[in-house]
Amino acid sequence: MGSLDFVYKNDSYLYENSLIDEEGLGQAITSHELRLHYQPRFPLRSGCSQILEALVRWDHPSQGLLLPDEFIPLAEETGLIHDLGLWVVNQACRDFRLFKSETDSDISRISINMSILQCEDTHTAQRVIDLIQRNGLSPSDFEFELTESAAIRDESAVLRCCKALQEAGAEISLDDFGTGQASMLHLSRLPVHAIKIDRAFISRVDTHSRDRTMVRHLIHLCHDMGIKVVAEGVELRSQAQMLMGLGCDALQGFYLCRPVEAKAAMSWRQRSERLAVA
Ligand code: C2E
Ligand code: CA
Ligand code: CA
Repeated sequence: MGSLDFVYKNDSYLYENSLIDEEGLGQAITSHELRLHYQPRFPLRSGCSQILEALVRWDHPSQGLLLPDEFIPLAEETGLIHDLGLWVVNQACRDFRLFKSETDSDISRISINMSILQCEDTHTAQRVIDLIQRNGLSPSDFEFELTESAAIRDESAVLRCCKALQEAGAEISLDDFGTGQASMLHLSRLPVHAIKIDRAFISRVDTHSRDRTMVRHLIHLCHDMGIKVVAEGVELRSQAQMLMGLGCDALQGFYLCRPVEAKAAMSWRQRSERLAVA
């Protein structure tokens, strides 16, 4: 087993390497070892806002840059996800102020991943709103992507959190759509502005007719409900072409742009020429 691997046992993650532990992660949050990278979402229709998704990394002193899948499960397991989540919001505010100060920047929102566990905490929405306002920004500068790594235990708490954020001006999207058991239920119950169709469907949309049919109907269903559709994990020109033809509202993926540091994200528009030739 590799040094960063963990095994799932008795409902808890047991880390094989003590370098990735609760204490280390707690310190990382307070001692500025976390970083945000950004991946753009390219709108395909007028009226769709231009958005950058914030993706957290841990610049570990001895292990180098760790991806979220290597420490978000630990953060959720230990409850550190709440502090980590507020760090992400605060850093995204700072970066967004930088983006806005660029006179030719046309980035309208930052999207932030939010664990369902954060939403279940009754204080999360107000803490997030206060933090955004303390940074001189508005919740309407943000979208929150609900990631469902754990089953919802308290649906009414999640609904309250989403409503509070939405009423303050933020938008809510459902991430990894199509893979979670509760995806359809959330679509009907939560105040959702957009869904992000999971890469599992997008990777076969150009080659498998069943996946294509599902994506086409999902787009129609969402549009009937007034919900936007984003395709994530677009890696090929053929997938981009197919999704444009199917009526997707926006695309995101390595074909268009990989996640990059904040400074590099400001020049992301250069990549949109790829869509023009898609
Ligand atoms: P996600 O929200 O679904 O984010 C997309 C992930 O897919 C990112 O991985 C991104 O780098 C990767 N990706 C984007 N385009 C492509 C593509 O074309 N092909 C492939 N193969 N991959 C692509 P990353 O950054 O490792 O993030 C993994 C997950 O960690 C995220 O999945 C999200 O669920 C979670 N995450 C990231 N940042 C945060 C955060 O601040 N808070 C929370 N709670 N979760 C986060
Ligand atoms: Ca996401
Ligand atoms: Ca996703």
